[in-house]
Amino acid sequence: MSFTVHGVGVSGGIAIGRAQLISHAQLEVAHYDIPKSRVKSEQARFDAAIAKVRNELVELTDHIPAGAPSAEIEALLNLHRMILEDSTLSEAPKQLIESMKCNAEWALKLQMDELVDQFARIEDSYLRERNADIKQVVERVLKALLGSPGYSVRHTPEENAILVAHDLSPADVIVFKQHHFASFITDLGGATSHTAIVARSLNIPSVVALHQARSLIRENETLIVDGTNGVVIVNPDSSILTEYKLRQDQWRLERKKLKRLKRTKTTTLDGMDVELHANIELPEDVAVAQENGATGIGLFRTEFLFLNRGDLPSEDEQFEAYRRVAVDMKGIPVTIRTFDLGADKQVENFGRVAPNPALGLRAIRLCLAEPRLFHFQLRAVLRASHYGKIRILIPMLSSMHEIEQAQHLIGEAKESLDTDGIPYDENVEVGGMIEVPAAALSVNSFMRKLDFVSIGTNDLIQYTLAIDRSDDSVAHLYDPLHPAVLELVSHIIRSATRAGKPVAVCGEMAGDTRLTRLLLGFGLRQFSMHPAHLLAVKQVVLKSGIADLSNVTQRILRSHVSDRIENLLQRMNE
Ligand code: PEP
Ligand code: MG
Repeated sequence: MSFTVHGVGVSGGIAIGRAQLISHAQLEVAHYDIPKSRVKSEQARFDAAIAKVRNELVELTDHIPAGAPSAEIEALLNLHRMILEDSTLSEAPKQLIESMKCNAEWALKLQMDELVDQFARIEDSYLRERNADIKQVVERVLKALLGSPGYSVRHTPEENAILVAHDLSPADVIVFKQHHFASFITDLGGATSHTAIVARSLNIPSVVALHQARSLIRENETLIVDGTNGVVIVNPDSSILTEYKLRQDQWRLERKKLKRLKRTKTTTLDGMDVELHANIELPEDVAVAQENGATGIGLFRTEFLFLNRGDLPSEDEQFEAYRRVAVDMKGIPVTIRTFDLGADKQVENFGRVAPNPALGLRAIRLCLAEPRLFHFQLRAVLRASHYGKIRILIPMLSSMHEIEQAQHLIGEAKESLDTDGIPYDENVEVGGMIEVPAAALSVNSFMRKLDFVSIGTNDLIQYTLAIDRSDDSVAHLYDPLHPAVLELVSHIIRSATRAGKPVAVCGEMAGDTRLTRLLLGFGLRQFSMHPAHLLAVKQVVLKSGIADLSNVTQRILRSHVSDRIENLLQRMNE
C-alpha cells in the first residue's frame, strides 16, 4: 500500500531507496527463549558482560584526563560501580534467565524496568534522579552483551539505504558520518535541533518530526524522501517514482551548476562584499567547507569532540583538533566556539539530571561552573592560535559578568602558557554569541567588552518564543519571521555596525536562501552556515542590490502580522 507521511525537511534534495529500520539498544532489546541446556552459558555470558563493564569503569577512573573535573567524575564512576555491583543488577537477572529461560539482555531489561519503577516512586529527588545512572549502567552492560555501540547501523548500510529511526541524539548522528547512505528520517526532532543540524552535515536529504514513520514503515519498503518539502512517500507507484526520479535529476543538475560559483567573489550587484563562512562539527568537515568555497569557519561546534566516548578529550587531543582546522584553513579565520555542552548535548559520565536542561547549566554556564575543564580547552585553543587565524567565541552569554569571568579565565590560560614557554597569538580575538534575548537587549554594553558578535538564531528563536527547538510538538510554532525575532536580529546587527564591530549570523537563518535578502537589508555582511547551503546563498547575494532592499526591509520591520511579513518577503525575493 502506498501512503505519504509529512514532517519537517531539514536537508534538501530527493532520495529514493529502501527502508532500513534502526533502533536504540536500550529501547529495543530482543526477547527470545532459550533451552534449559543453555541457561548456564547464558548466565556466563551475562557475568562476562558485567566483568567487562567493571573493567571499563576502573579504566575510566584511572584515566580521567587533565582538565576534567576529576572529583566529580570519580564520584560518578564510583556510583556507577556501586550500581553495577549491587546484586539487584549483577545477580537478579541470572535468576530471571533461569526461571524464565530467556536471553540475558531481556532479563537485564526486566530487572532494570523493575528498579527504575521503584526509584521513580521515591520522594527524595536526589535518589529519584539516580534513575538516569541506573539506565546508563544498564546501557553499558547491554552494549557489552551486544558487543556494539548503542545506536548502530547493523550492517554497513547500502548506498541506497534510507535509515528510519524514532529518535536520534546528535551523538548518534555523528556516528553516521562514517557511513554512506541515501537519506535518514526520524519521528521526533525540530528543524533546528542539533540532531537536524548534524543531519544536514551528512549532506543527504533528511526529514524529521514524522511522528509515526518508524512504526508505519517496514524494513526494505521503497521510500521517496523529499528533504526540501519534508515529505516521505512509502511504496510509491511507478508514475510517482518516475516523477521523482526526474526531480532528483533536476536537483542534481542545479547542485552541479552551483559548483561553478565556488571561486566567484561574493559581491552584491551594487558592489558590497559579503563573507560566507562555514559551520563545522568535526575537523574533517573542513574539506566540505573548502569544496563549497567558504572564506572562513564561522562556527566550530567543539562540543562534538566530547560525544560518543566514555572519557573527556585531553588538552593535547583538543589542541591537535583545533590546530588541524587552523592549518587546513591556511590562515583564513577559524572561529572556535568553546564547549556548548548541556541541553541536548550531554556527555557520558558527566551529565547532571537537570529539570529543564535548555535553561540549565549549559554552554558558558557549565564552563564557568567547571573552570578546570574550561581552562584546558582555552589552553588548547590558544596553543592552536599559533598555527593559523583563530578567534574564540563564547556561547550563550546572558550577562556582562559572564564575559568578564570568561575573559579572566582566558587571561589565566595565557599566563599558564607563558609560564610553560608555549607560543600563542597574543591578539586572539574574543567574541560572544548573542542567542538569549537578554544578550540581544544588552548588546551595546556587551560590545564594549567583545571583539565581535555572532547571532545564534536557533537559540535566539527558542528562547524568545519559549519553544523547545528539539520538540516536534511545537515545531510549527518555531518561527524565524516572528516580529519579535526580526526586531532582535535587526537590533543586534544595527548596534554592532554602529559600534564598528564585526557581526555574523551563524544560526540556521544564515543558510536559508529565503532570508538572505532580508538579512542583507538588516545590514548583515557575514553569514555562517552549513557548507551545503553556501553556494545557494552566494547565488542570491550575487543577484541582490543592497539599495533596493532598504524600503521593503523597513516595511517588514514595521509589520506585526505574519501574513503581511510573508507577503513582503515574497516580494523582496522576486
Ligand atoms: C544557534 O543557536 O543559532 C547556534 C548557531 O548554535 P547551536 O545551534 O549550536 O546551538
Ligand atoms: Mg546555540
